[in-house]
Amino acid sequence: MKTLKIAIQKSGRLNEKSVEILKNCGLSFENYKSSLIATVANFPLEILFLRDDDIPEYVQDGIADLGIVGENVIIEAGADVSYLQPLGFGKCTLKIAVQSTSNITELSQLNGKAIATSYPVILQKYLSENNVDAQIRNISGSVEIGPGLGLSDAIFDIVSTGGTLKSNGLKAFKNVMDSQAMLIASKGMELNPEVLELLQRIQSVLRAKA
Ligand code: ATP
Ligand code: ZN
Repeated sequence: MKTLKIAIQKSGRLNEKSVEILKNCGLSFENYKSSLIATVANFPLEILFLRDDDIPEYVQDGIADLGIVGENVIIEAGADVSYLQPLGFGKCTLKIAVQSTSNITELSQLNGKAIATSYPVILQKYLSENNVDAQIRNISGSVEIGPGLGLSDAIFDIVSTGGTLKSNGLKAFKNVMDSQAMLIASKGMELNPEVLELLQRIQSVLRAKA
């Protein structure tokens, strides 16, 4: 029997819930902060602890058979993987925000404007679908400071509470995408008996919670 590999986030917002759902499936493994890989004692499975950004590609390329990662990261990576199950945690919304003083009320007003984001792929797709021709400034973090510094007219980022927007003088303008953690598999692994067994266990954990 082949030992499956599942990639989960090493540390960050999805780590704890990812570990918890696997433990609730009855999987027994050690979860040391320092280890990059854990072997499950009672199921043919190894757990790889990775940065979330690397997970879609690892699963696409079959280095890991399964993964748990935010839909936003999967879509941004353009990864060709199978979606097995939304997991109900890591929920967030990607929004376009503008300065609180801005008079922008319609998408078309973003034509010719600069938008700072670390999600250029998702943003470009949305703008193209809505026939908006804006300049996307790809920056890797703290996009919220852009408008205040005159670096951009708007931002596109994950917003959960809106507190960060407000404290940077911004207001949400358009909701573009809702995201949550997703169980994904390499193409072709969906029918593997151990994958199906694990999926069934995860689904009953989710049902018990609902
Ligand atoms: P890594 O070190 O693994 O690269 P990261 O800093 O990129 O981690 P986290 O901040 O841990 O990522 O977020 C992981 C995922 O959690 C996001 O991609 C998103 O799907 C989800 N998420 C849920 N709520 C939020 C939020 N308020 N802000 C950011 N991400 C959130
Ligand atoms: Zn990341």
